[in-house]
Amino acid sequence: MDELLEQLVEECRGCTSQGKVATYIPELAKANPEELGIYVLQSDGRHCQAGAYQKRFTIQSVVKPILLLLALMDNGEDYVRARVGVEATGKPFDAINMTDQTLFSDHINPMVNMGAIAMCTLIKGSSYEERFQRLLELTRKLAGDPEIRLDEAVYLSEKRTGNKNRALAYLLKTYGMIEDEVEEVLDCYFKACSISVNSKDLAHIAFVLANRGRLPQTDERVFSRRYAHYVNAILMTCGMYDGSGDFAVNVGVPAKSGVGGGIMAVVPTRMGIGIYGPSLDEKGNSVAGIQVLKGLSERMYLSIF
Ligand code: GLU
Repeated sequence: MDELLEQLVEECRGCTSQGKVATYIPELAKANPEELGIYVLQSDGRHCQAGAYQKRFTIQSVVKPILLLLALMDNGEDYVRARVGVEATGKPFDAINMTDQTLFSDHINPMVNMGAIAMCTLIKGSSYEERFQRLLELTRKLAGDPEIRLDEAVYLSEKRTGNKNRALAYLLKTYGMIEDEVEEVLDCYFKACSISVNSKDLAHIAFVLANRGRLPQTDERVFSRRYAHYVNAILMTCGMYDGSGDFAVNVGVPAKSGVGGGIMAVVPTRMGIGIYGPSLDEKGNSVAGIQVLKGLSERMYLSIF
């Protein structure tokens, strides 16, 4: 398997030139577009890796399933479902997804920005700093990595430039879908997106979702089977932004991408996969990362369809 991963990374590295690193958050523009790494953790405990799997990068949207898990763990499914919908928007991650009609909770999806901003308000904590710390703790626990930290430079860069997210948050406030101070909620969202991880961390988090809520090795249950089912289902339909349909056809597993270049892919009962490849296609997905996953899925029959 190590050889297969090495081979896929070499084969797919060429397509990094077909994409571009994200620049709308200035700090992300510093990434090297040619980097590519993968880490796979399998249900029998074996793991394998290739390329830049140790490289740290910001989690960005890959934090959204973790936010959703924490919101579910804190409030239960009915409460969360009444406030954040599950239907794919079919639009880009930062789309202002509305017409002149009133915005309803069913219009917002937890895997795109508007839904994720709303979910920050669902996490329990006496302050937004405490909410963020709880999210960071859960991320560390799922990844089995106590070293996971906030990337301060990316956080400040996004806070300074994130006006589209401000617009989304004010829309949520206008329609009574968030009550708290917009800047406080956004501060938690920007910090959440700026958690620094590597491919191994993403593979471990994906593994827990694949393993229906139980950690590798200890088998400790962190969340219920039902929440794993709920999150994986949403990842399948909306995890790869408005490229989710294509990804379902070509790769066929629940996954979440982020504009930092990460992809976390969940192969239910079999494995967790973490990818780093910061060169993105026009939808914001790692160009080479998708190709590596497509190759791996074809050769190991990973598609759930
Ligand atoms: N922090 C990014 C934003 O809100 C996350 C976007 C993404 O990874 O999709 O713009």
